[in-house]
Amino acid sequence: MFDWLIVGAGFAGSVLAERIASQRGESVLLIDRRNHVGGNAFDCYNEDSILIHRYGPHIFHTNAESIVEYLSQFTTWRPYEHRVLAAVDGKLLPMPINLDTINRLYGLDLSSSQLEEFFASRRETVEEVRTAEEVVVSTVGRELYDKFFRGYTRKQWGVDPSQLSKSVTARVPTRTNRDDRYFGDRFQMMPAGGYARMFERMTNHPSIKIMLQTDYREIRDRISFRRLIYTGPIDEYFDCRLGRLPYRSLRFEHVTVDCEQFQPVAVVNYPQTEAYTRITEYKHLTGQKNARTSLTYEYPTDVGDPYYPVPRPENEALYKQYEALAASCPDVWFVGRLATYRYYNMDQVVGQALATFGRIQRTLAIPSDILVPPVAVPAKRHPIAEQPQGSLIANPG
Ligand code: FAD
Ligand code: UDP
Repeated sequence: MFDWLIVGAGFAGSVLAERIASQRGESVLLIDRRNHVGGNAFDCYNEDSILIHRYGPHIFHTNAESIVEYLSQFTTWRPYEHRVLAAVDGKLLPMPINLDTINRLYGLDLSSSQLEEFFASRRETVEEVRTAEEVVVSTVGRELYDKFFRGYTRKQWGVDPSQLSKSVTARVPTRTNRDDRYFGDRFQMMPAGGYARMFERMTNHPSIKIMLQTDYREIRDRISFRRLIYTGPIDEYFDCRLGRLPYRSLRFEHVTVDCEQFQPVAVVNYPQTEAYTRITEYKHLTGQKNARTSLTYEYPTDVGDPYYPVPRPENEALYKQYEALAASCPDVWFVGRLATYRYYNMDQVVGQALATFGRIQRTLAIPSDILVPPVAVPAKRHPIAEQPQGSLIANPG
């Protein structure tokens, strides 16, 4: 009998497992249907000993110092500011759009204030900005929208930006200065030893047992537990009884090429050409030295693992119905990007998991038979080697 069953060993599940084990002294069974912990942030060394991200580039950025402090228990950091170029009209231009993007695209020499006038003369008036298209055309105008956003978004999501909520393209700022960093956050860095190592440390606790290659639906009737934390797709939890929630997927093509550096920055976006959306070169993220270099091409698709909730009003409405069902499930907590159907970054998922833990602490008394005081995070780690289906990894503690 476990005190808790946690479904999904990504950020949401692993943070909650760590908090519950170390702060409440309760036993946790953490399961994942994949063969590793870390969820979509998982990284690993490939056959050329280059650290790659199996599910596409993951760059840590946040404004929340408390989240950095929390994760710093399990990793040290490598400072890294992410830069992206977009292949537009045969040139590689800074993305997000900034002063250099416009000057180089049009062969101009505008100042920042002239660029503001340039945008003002091109932007379209939109009464109430509601869609991913309107966010961009009301900021920089239709021509730049067509060059940088329309094609990329149609590829990425399989629908026109006019069909998506504004939150999608509102993630990408527009700048009139020369700042070419992708993110504006106060903290921008990568876990120095990689994400997988950070997750190993986070989940290495005597009260946490991990079962990999284990699907919740296959074991739910065979394992006894008192409470459940579920971080998989919420519609799946309810056997899709209200209909399927759409999630967008990606096919990743990982390759290693015979040159030291393939492209000038970690990510190059392809809004106008190619079937893939972007190419990532990992050595920029990790600072690794190697005579060869590893890349990932991302091909968006509707089939495959669920990666992105699709922010559209009708999907939000369906999610709300599932959320109402979830509210009627006592002793089940739904957390994370898939279970709360939110286009969250890693730091937001960590924040959501920590807030959920706060609610658990306020709602549930620690049973009196558990006399274990809060346990410090142990230094020892277990390997995250691939495990046969259903095998139980007992943490050495
Ligand atoms: P996940 O990481 O998806 O973990 C959920 C886990 O649950 C999965 O491992 C899954 O296998 C498991 N699971 C689901 N159902 C079951 C079941 N029935 N039984 C057992 N296990 C189950 N965020 C950033 O901050 N910066 C970035 O640069 C960034 N880049 C990204 C790039 C891509 C391509 C993608 C897809 C996402 C990116 N993100 C980024 C977002 C980031 O991946 C998520 O915010 C974060 O990983 C979500 O954590 P999670 O625990 O909610 O979900
Ligand atoms: N986007 C775009 N062109 C780009 C970059 C982003 O049209 O060159 C749009 C696209 O719709 C994308 C959204 O902005 O899905 C958010 O971009 P972000 O880089 O945050 O996407 P993620 O890293 O989450 O895939």
